Amino acid sequence: MVNITFNTDRCKGCGLCVEACPKHLLAMDQNALNAQGHHPAGITDRSACIGCASCAVTCPDCVIKIVKE
Ligand code: SF4
Ligand code: SF4
Repeated sequence: MVNITFNTDRCKGCGLCVEACPKHLLAMDQNALNAQGHHPAGITDRSACIGCASCAVTCPDCVIKIVKE
């Protein structure tokens, strides 16, 4: 099982993680605004995440954390 968490208030909405996910699971949450005024990244289907950590490695602001349990 993969546990993916987002430090949402650090997200600057650059979208690099969205492009990096091979399963196309990440998207900007258009219904939320973080402390910096950006729509933060989030995951659309946690059960489909393969835990590759491509998103976490790509994020320049270390927003995403992947833990495999
Ligand atoms: S760990 Fe891999 S599959 Fe899961 S959201 Fe990140 S890039 Fe996508
Ligand atoms: S790469 Fe990081 S800062 Fe950029 S949208 Fe994704 S989580 Fe936010």
